[in-house]
Amino acid sequence: MDGCRTYDIEGKRMAADPGFAGEMKNSARTDFGLCYQCLTCTLGCPMSWAMDYPPNRIVRLVQLGLRDEALSSISIQICSACETCVTRCPNGIEIAALIDSLRIKSMKEGVETREPLLRKFHKSFLGGFRNYGRLHEIGFVIRLKLRTLNMFQDAWSGFRMFLKGKFSILPHRIKGREAIKEIFRRTIESRKG
Ligand code: SF4
Ligand code: SF4
Repeated sequence: MDGCRTYDIEGKRMAADPGFAGEMKNSARTDFGLCYQCLTCTLGCPMSWAMDYPPNRIVRLVQLGLRDEALSSISIQICSACETCVTRCPNGIEIAALIDSLRIKSMKEGVETREPLLRKFHKSFLGGFRNYGRLHEIGFVIRLKLRTLNMFQDAWSGFRMFLKGKFSILPHRIKGREAIKEIFRRTIESRKG
C-alpha cells in the first residue's frame, strides 16, 4: 500500500491498513481504542503461552491497522473464547468478540494462518459434533490424519489409549442431533452474509 504508515515489529516491516481498525470496531462492536496496554487480559489468558501474539498485542495490531499480521495470527485460531480477558479488562473491552470477528474475517477472506494445522484441527474436531452431537475420538483422529496426511505422528500414544479403553470404536449419539445440525446450518448461513 503506497503512502501508508509502516511499523517494524519483531524485525518485520509491516504496512498498516488505515481502514482496518474501524472495520473491526464495527464488526466486533467494542471500543478497543480504550486499551492502554495494561496487560491484565494477557496475564489471565489460559492460552497466551501458545499464542504468537497475546491478547493485549492482538488489540494493538488492530489499533495500528496491521491487518495481515492480525488475520494470519495463530492466536485468533487458538483462543478458547473463555472470556477471562473480557472479565479482567478494566476498560470493558470485548477482546473475545474482537478475536471472534478476526477469526471469521480471516476465514471469509481465505487468509493463510501461520499454523495451517489449526484449521484442520478445528474442522476435524467439529465434524463429529455435527454428525453425532458429541466427539467421537477415533473419527476425529481419522479425519485429522486424512487432512494432514501425517499418519504416524502420535500413533503409538493413540494405540496405548485405545488399549486402555479411552477410545470407543463406535460413536455415541445424543438425542436431538437434528437440533445440533440446525445450529451448524444456521451458523454457516449467518457467516455467508
Ligand atoms: S486488559 Fe484491556 S486495557 Fe488492559 S491490555 Fe488488555 S485490552 Fe488493553
Ligand atoms: S477469550 Fe481467548 S484471549 Fe481471552 S482469555 Fe480466553 S483464551 Fe485468552
